[in-house]
Amino acid sequence: MAALGALSPCPYSLLWRPKTSNRCVSCSVGSSTATGTRRSNVRRSGRMEGPRKSMEDSVQRKMEQFYEGREGPPIRVLPIGGLGEIGMNCMLVGNYDRYILIDAGVMFPDFDELGVQKIIPDTTFIKKWSHKIEAIVITHGHEDHIGALPWVIPALDPNTPIFASSFTMELIKKRLKEHGIFVPSRLRTFRTKRKFTAGPFEIEPVRVTHSIPDCCGLVLRCSDGTILHTGDWKIDESPLDGRGFDCEALEELSKEGVTLMMSDSTNVLSPGRTTSESSVADALLKHISAAKGRVITTQFASNIHRLGSVKAAADFTGRKLVFVGMSLRTYLDAAWKDGKAPIDPSSLVKVEDIDSYAPKDLLIVTTGSQAEPRAALNLASFGSSHSVKLNKEDIILYSAKVIPGNESRVMKMLNRISDLGSTIVMGKNEGLHTSGHGYRGELVSLLFQDFNFKRS
Ligand SMILES: [Zn+2]
Repeated sequence: MAALGALSPCPYSLLWRPKTSNRCVSCSVGSSTATGTRRSNVRRSGRMEGPRKSMEDSVQRKMEQFYEGREGPPIRVLPIGGLGEIGMNCMLVGNYDRYILIDAGVMFPDFDELGVQKIIPDTTFIKKWSHKIEAIVITHGHEDHIGALPWVIPALDPNTPIFASSFTMELIKKRLKEHGIFVPSRLRTFRTKRKFTAGPFEIEPVRVTHSIPDCCGLVLRCSDGTILHTGDWKIDESPLDGRGFDCEALEELSKEGVTLMMSDSTNVLSPGRTTSESSVADALLKHISAAKGRVITTQFASNIHRLGSVKAAADFTGRKLVFVGMSLRTYLDAAWKDGKAPIDPSSLVKVEDIDSYAPKDLLIVTTGSQAEPRAALNLASFGSSHSVKLNKEDIILYSAKVIPGNESRVMKMLNRISDLGSTIVMGKNEGLHTSGHGYRGELVSLLFQDFNFKRS
C-alpha cells in the first residue's frame, strides 16, 4: 500500500493546470474506479453530470485538464491512482507527450462497496493515451502495484515493454499466464544500479527496504530534469537478507539535485521510526520456543523475509512447517524460481498430512490475517476448514497489522477463535509485526537530514 506524497522545489498545481508557463512540473489528479471516474465539479455545457455522465465524457474532462504537445511544462505527472489514497498505485510520468506508467495496482474495496472485488485504474483513459505510453515500470510486487496489470496491459499498445526486478517479474509472469496475456518478449528484467532507458527517461533503480523482496525506487532522468519516485519504503537498518536501503545512491542523488521527488507517505502520521524485520524474527523465535503445543502463525503471504524467520524458528525448535493458504505458495514459488526463497517448497509438510504429526512438532502458517472470507484462518475460526481444526491447546501468533477498514471482521474472527479456546498473541508489545512503510522519523531523515534533496 502507499499514500504517495510529492515534494517539488518547483511550484506546481496538484489539481489544476498551472496558469503560468514557466513552471516546470505539471500534475493533475484523476483517480478512477472500476465503474467510472469519481465525482467531478467541472460543469461544461452539453455534458451530463452525476450518474448519467458517460465514461467517454469523464475521459474527455481529464484530458482537458492536462497539457498536451509542446505547450506547458516539460515534465508531467498524472497520478491515475495512489496519490492521497491507499492502494491502486498507478502514475503516468512524462517528458512532454512521452510517458511511462509507474506501477499498475489494485485497490481493495471498503465494506460499503458491496459486490466490488477489486478497484482498478481507469483503463479507458489509459487506452486513449496508449500511443503516448512507451513503457510500464514496476517498483515492487505487492498487489496494489501489480494487481491491475491484467487490465492495464490490454489497454496499451501490444509491444509496450514491462520493466521489473527479477522477483517481481516472476509474480508478473504468473499473473499474465493466468490471464492468457503472457508475451515473453515484452518483459524486461532490471537490476538496481543498472541504468536502462524507458520512454523519454534514463532510469536508475535504487534499492529500498520494504516488506517484500526486490523493492526499488526509481530515479528518472531526462534533459528537462530529474525525478525521484521512491516506491514503497522504510529504512530497515538490519534487513534479514542483508540487502539494505541504498543510502549511498540517494546521497549521490541529493548532491546532484532533483526536480521533483515523490515519496510513499503512508505512515507520515506515526511518530518515530519503524523497527527492523529482524526484531520480528526475534519475537517469533521467543514465542515459538516457549510454546508447548501447536503453533499457528498468520501473516501477509508476500513477506518472504518473515516466512524465513518462521522457518528459522521452526528449525530451532524442531518443528515441521506447513503452509495453509494458496497465496503463501504463490509468493514462495516466485522467490524459489528467483533463487531468493528461504524455504525449499518441497520440504513443506503437505496439508493433508497435518494429522500425522504431534501438535508440538508442527508450525502452521496460514493466510487470513485480514479475515478474508475464504482464507484459511477465517474458515478455521468458523470450524469449517478441512485442514485446520482449532482447539484450546493452539497458540495463534498474529504477525500482521489490521488494515484500516478490516477492523470489524478481524475482531469478529478473533472472537470466534477465542470462543474455540485458542490463545491469541498479538499487539504492539508482542513485537510480532513491523510496518514496511517508514514512519515520520524516516520521512524526515529522507527529506531533510541525511539526504537533503535540493532543487537542481
Ligand atoms: Zn508495497
